[in-house]
Amino acid sequence: MTITVDPLEGTTFGAVVRGVDLRALGDAAWRRVEDAFHTYGILVFHGQSLTRDEHVAFARRFGEIERQSDQTMRGDFVGKPIVLDISNVDDNGVHITDRNHPQVRYLGGNEGWHSDSSFKRVTAKASILNAIEAPSRGGQTGYADMRAAYDALTDEEKDRLEGLTAYHSLEYSQAAAGATDTSPAAVPSEMAGAWHEIVRAHPVTGRKALFIGRHACQIEELPVDEGRRLLERLLEAACRAPRVYYHQWRPGDVVVWDNRCMLHRATEWDLSERRVLRHVRVAGDN
Ligand code: MN
Repeated sequence: MTITVDPLEGTTFGAVVRGVDLRALGDAAWRRVEDAFHTYGILVFHGQSLTRDEHVAFARRFGEIERQSDQTMRGDFVGKPIVLDISNVDDNGVHITDRNHPQVRYLGGNEGWHSDSSFKRVTAKASILNAIEAPSRGGQTGYADMRAAYDALTDEEKDRLEGLTAYHSLEYSQAAAGATDTSPAAVPSEMAGAWHEIVRAHPVTGRKALFIGRHACQIEELPVDEGRRLLERLLEAACRAPRVYYHQWRPGDVVVWDNRCMLHRATEWDLSERRVLRHVRVAGDN
């Protein structure tokens, strides 16, 4: 098979990779995929229906599979690899159509732009979604290029952000989004989370990117309200065309993205339709 890598049109990032079977990826094909991952930040593959084991094996090419921590909801999964169904079908195969069902409500928090596991000390490297079932419309996943967002800042803004540190908290962001019954703390850093620099250089390419998103809720060097307003302004300015792409899922689609320089978000769909996306997360190395 001949591998082709076609950049997404009208965006600063992303590419569709054709001519690969992710279940049987030779070393040369893997090198093309890895290079493209570093260049484009998100890669789309069509027609890949992976079993859980095949999905995990592909993810292992990128690094160690991230493990569930006690900062994620399912306490009974702590210490196990992150292989999640992002779905309105419960563990017993029952189709959930109620928007107030806890599973749907919790996933609703993902409609804010975020980087997976940014609330942990070691943040995620990559995330890989495979569509098992997809609604006929809606339920897209949005992606945004934080390298291009950084590049678009003025020199003054870049200078101001250099060295600022943000607190990322899942507990806080879920509470603030109404996705849990917890109330957000007045000082977010009192809730579970981790501090990270707002400007991060990519460990492979060296390219600087904004490391922000819905879990970032406080800036160490600023009063709480001022920091929150700055983070909101940055996010609003960053996640705009041409730095945004919305992926409409079809069964068999695989999308892998680099959480170190890309944000993503979920969008709603008509819950009378089933949607099952399987997610595997690769741990970062710092
Ligand atoms: Mn996510």
